[in-house]
Order: sequence, then structure tokens, then C-alpha cells
Amino acid sequence: MSQWSDWRWQMTHRLRSVEDFARIIDLTPEETEGLSAPGRFRVDVTPYFASLIDPHDPNCPIRRQVIPTSAELVPFQAEMVDSLGEDAHSPVPGLVHRYPDRVLMLVTTQCASYCRFCTRSRLVGDGRMTFNSETYDRQLDYIAATPEIRDVLISGGDPLTMAQPMLERLLKRLRDIPHVEVVRMGTRVPCFLPQRVTPDLVAMLSKYHPLWMNIHFNHPKEITPEVEVALARLANAGIPLGSQSVLMAGINDCPNVIKALMHKLVKNRVRPYYLYQCDLVHGAGHFRTPVSKGLEIMESLRGHTSGFAIPTYVIDAPEGGGKVPILPNYLISMSDSKVVVRNYEGFITAYTQPAHYKAHDPATCPYCQAHQTEHGQEGVAGLLSGERHSLAPEGWYETHYRQTTSATEAPCETQECVEDVVHAGV
Ligand SMILES: *Cc1c(COP(=O)(O)O)cnc(C)c1O
Repeated sequence: MSQWSDWRWQMTHRLRSVEDFARIIDLTPEETEGLSAPGRFRVDVTPYFASLIDPHDPNCPIRRQVIPTSAELVPFQAEMVDSLGEDAHSPVPGLVHRYPDRVLMLVTTQCASYCRFCTRSRLVGDGRMTFNSETYDRQLDYIAATPEIRDVLISGGDPLTMAQPMLERLLKRLRDIPHVEVVRMGTRVPCFLPQRVTPDLVAMLSKYHPLWMNIHFNHPKEITPEVEVALARLANAGIPLGSQSVLMAGINDCPNVIKALMHKLVKNRVRPYYLYQCDLVHGAGHFRTPVSKGLEIMESLRGHTSGFAIPTYVIDAPEGGGKVPILPNYLISMSDSKVVVRNYEGFITAYTQPAHYKAHDPATCPYCQAHQTEHGQEGVAGLLSGERHSLAPEGWYETHYRQTTSATEAPCETQECVEDVVHAGV
């Protein structure tokens, strides 16, 4: 095997200094400054990924993702260290329990190469801040003790940079928890270091099905022949592949670039999953686009290409709001009998609603009967199902329910009290 196709050689020969990069590309003054800045977010680029850089184009989309410039040192309004509020949602270190039935499990701080726009730059890249077996024990204990968790998303850092026996032990221990139905992995290794996707690694992963994988790709130039081999190995092992992309100024903020990327992904059996609005994270300010750019891109996809080539465009809402889908409006109006919609071409039609819809009866539906409450996360679906009657901003009840009622001695201060009063017919 040539050194180039040996992933260990790639990892130990990563480029990180001004001198390393100056040997292969014409560095701009902004890049030299970014690479020399004290306290900069870690730089490390595999020789393979660096070989995709256009040495003479400072706007090369590959280059801009991994080589810092002075722009990333400039703070911007509304930036945050932990823009998704992940630390606040962590019952134990490195485990983010944000949604009712699934968790994000951070297992390493290391990556094959470091994205300049990293949403977890607060912890990623730090060689001293690593996860150890004690952290894994606490994470696994929490998952085992929390039966509503049916989906575990292993991320980091990049889990595919871990020592293979260590990763396998984690997968095995997750599989030993009966209520964990699905394990998935978020990784950029197939993009940064396709050489790592060896037959041996894939054989190990395929022992832990159902195992899903989401791979981070941002530009069609990233899908090289080496990457296509890696993707084919993963797909042939029965691992359902998805993609995640970040919308970024000067990199992929173009309907045609995104469409070309999506087409290359589906040709390689990768189903586009999420297109992210760039997070409000320090260092990423110069990559941000207006949300309107994302909507314009979504408008250029739906109807214009295969439905399975269209990702969901999301804003990962600040302070742990979670992923919120954003899409153009297709619903124009509605009456009891008609729904007026427009298609991608601007053709407007009316869909006739059924006159005699026999409503679904939860009382006779075994799935409704087995449905478990989501402990305060029922949300708008809970309003529709009748589990809750309202959703209120913090302090709303204290502000609005002032009177002492016959049902309660004191004014209500909680939603439960108000609901008791209101539904008691007071
Ligand atoms: C993205 C994310 C998930 C997974 O969300 P899906 O929409 O199911 O892909 C889970 N937990 C956290 C904290 C996340 O950020």
C-alpha cells in the first residue's frame, strides 16, 4: 500500500503551520495572519484534503473551509461560545439530551481536519480535553437508565478518528442496551480522510446494525474518486448514508453549487439530510449568509430535481432551540372545502378536501394508547392531540391570572393551576 493511501500516514503528516501550507499553496496575507494568530482554533489538514486545494485561488471552496484567515478572529454581533446551548442540555459531560427520544453522545474532541466554522470549537481540537472511559461509563449509564432514549447519535469531534477497538467497545455497549433501537454516527472522515474507510473498519461497523451514518459534505469538489470508493464500501455494508451541509458565503451559497453537490451525493447513495444555516459561533461570522439565501436555494430544488435529492433546510436555533425547518410557502389559502396551493412553477390549484372525513379515534388505536407523554416536550403536536391546552412564554400565567378564584385561595402561578381552574369551569 502506498503511503498516500495509508490513513495513518495521512494523520501523522497533516498540515498545520504557515511553512506547511506555503510549500503547496500561495498563501494570502490574511491566511498567513490567521495561521499565525495566537490562540487560534486548531489547524490540521490531511494531505489528501489539502491536495484538493487550488493553490492559486484564494477563494477556493476547499481551502476556505480549513485554512484560517484573519476574518475568523473578528467577533460579530450575537456570536456565542456554545451557540446551541449544548452544555446546558447535558445531564452528564458530553451527552446532550435535547429531544424526547434521542441523545447526542460526544465521544472525542479530535477530527481528521478542522473546519474553520466548527460549531463545537469550544471543545473540539483540544488534545487535553479528551473523553475517557469514565466519561463513557457515565454517558452509557445515563442512556441505560433512560428508557425513552431509542436513538443515540455518536459524534464529537469525529468518532471515526477514534482507535477502532475503543469505538467498537462503545458500539457494543450501546447495542447491549435493549431500548436503544438505532445508533447513528456523525462524521466527516469519509470526506477528509476517505482512506480511513477500510474494509476492516466497515466490517466492524456492520456488526452493529441498524447503524446509520451522516457525513458532512459542503461542496461538489469534495466528492472525489477516493471518496466514491469509501461511500460505496459503506453503502454496500448496508449502512444508510445521509449528508449534512452548512450553507456558507463564498463556499456553497449558490443554488447550482448545492444542486450539483446533492446530485453527486445521490449518485453515491447518500441521501441529503440537512442543510444548515451557519451557526452563531465565534469564528464563523464571515461565513454567514442571510436566511433568504437558504430559501432561494430550497426554491431552486423542490420540483426542479428528485425529491430524494432535497435536504431539509434548518436553523439550529440558538440557546438550545433545536433544529427548525425553514421552507418557502406553498400553501396559499384554505376554506372548509378547498386548499389552494402553488407549485414550483407558480401554477396555482385547488385541492378539494373530503366532505365526510371520519376522524381517527385514538381510543381504539393501539399506537395512540401506547403513546407515552414527552414530559413537557409535547409542543404544538401536544396542542393538536389535546395533551395540552396552551403553550405560554415564561411568566405569562403570573402576568395574566391575577384574580383569586373560588377554586384556589391564591392567584395561579403555574400552568397546571390555571388549567385546573379553567377546566373546572370556574
Ligand atoms: C441534531 C441533534 C439531534 C438529532 O436530530 P435529528 O433531527 O433527529 O437528526 C439530537 N440531539 C441534538 C442535541 C442535536 O443537535
